Amino acid sequence: MLKINNLHKSYAIGDSSLHVLKGINLDIEDGEMVAIMGSSGSGKSTLLNIIGMLDEADSGDYILDGLPIKNLTEKKAAVYRNKFLGFIFQSFNLINYKNALENVALPLYYQGFKRKERQEKAMFYLEKVGLTDWAHHLPKELSGGQNQRVAIARALAANPKLLLADEPTGALDTTISYEIMEFLQQLNDEGKTLLIVTHEEDIANMCKRIVRLRDGVIMEDTFV
Ligand code: ADP
Ligand code: MG
Repeated sequence: MLKINNLHKSYAIGDSSLHVLKGINLDIEDGEMVAIMGSSGSGKSTLLNIIGMLDEADSGDYILDGLPIKNLTEKKAAVYRNKFLGFIFQSFNLINYKNALENVALPLYYQGFKRKERQEKAMFYLEKVGLTDWAHHLPKELSGGQNQRVAIARALAANPKLLLADEPTGALDTTISYEIMEFLQQLNDEGKTLLIVTHEEDIANMCKRIVRLRDGVIMEDTFV
């Protein structure tokens, strides 16, 4: 699925620079469910954003699904992002004036699906996350767990090869967090490849493999 070799990333801060990723090597196969674990500031989101083609490394190689990700134009990057990747965020990132169905349907619009097909697919994925009855409700009318389900349905709608989640349970209480993780496990059982950033040990333990990051270096990479 993806191969990362000796990846480095620094951020410029005024005149100095902050070296955040210091030579990351990571191979992820199809069908894996991997946690990227580490304390705040260890570089987890930076790594996930590079994997998600939302940001670029300074040096090193990143190959996604056989494709070297380097010096892509923003347009090309957007095409690959839409085709390969689904994103889930801690804060759901739903559009607050659109209902659940419209939120899930939106990425399908960018993929060029016609209206009827968008509606059908969006409804299919809402049903998959158990929210058929909530399709016409706005995010503010849903609970945190329900909103994260909408966000998962949206991430799934384009049928991505790889799902990337940055602290997907960070804004949810423990019971709901486990429900969301069980749902992600179910998706993995169905064959989806998942990469989940978390700083919580119990969440990481619900994945099949844990990659531990500290100060921009992988300290440990173990199968659960
Ligand atoms: P994590 O997700 O593990 O908490 P991040 O990858 O978000 O860590 O951040 C790693 C380090 O890089 C932190 O010290 C953070 O402050 C810094 N950082 C993150 N993004 C930027 C940015 N856009 N500009 C400058 N520094 C950043
Ligand atoms: Mg982060």
